[in-house]
Amino acid sequence: MTREKMIKKIKFLAKEAKLRIQYKMAKDCIFCKIVKGEIKSAPVYQTDTVMAINDINPVAASHVLIFPKRHIDSVLTVKKGDGEALEDMFAVAQKLISERRLEAFRLAFNGGRYQHVPHLHMHLVAGSTIKWSQL
Ligand code: 5GP
Ligand code: ZN
Repeated sequence: MTREKMIKKIKFLAKEAKLRIQYKMAKDCIFCKIVKGEIKSAPVYQTDTVMAINDINPVAASHVLIFPKRHIDSVLTVKKGDGEALEDMFAVAQKLISERRLEAFRLAFNGGRYQHVPHLHMHLVAGSTIKWSQL
């Protein structure tokens, strides 16, 4: 085998291994299970592409998690084709902010060690007692 062919094969195997890891993560992912109905939840709102649920451990009077139904790992893996999912997430946030007449709110994405659920999600938090450090 030539050096070039060997490099090509290694790259192919690495890509395949990465895809396998991503597939396993998506299969075990809490939010994917919520989307599929395998874990019970009471969505506060949902569209074809986005789900919004109350955080199980709220840090403020209003604490909603908004995430795409299609699995995306994190802000670090968002890529060009994901634009529509992000637009849809912001549209849902805007709708909830407007409906709840939230005059002050925060939208946050956690990443790295601050991210505990490895499925991209946006926190919408509002209310007088935001425990920001616990988000
Ligand atoms: P992260 O730290 O990843 O940004 O935030 C994950 C959030 O998901 C946390 O605020 C945590 O309370 C919430 N969470 C984790 N598991 C569940 C669950 O099964 N149901 C709901 N509704 N929220 C969850
Ligand atoms: Zn997922």
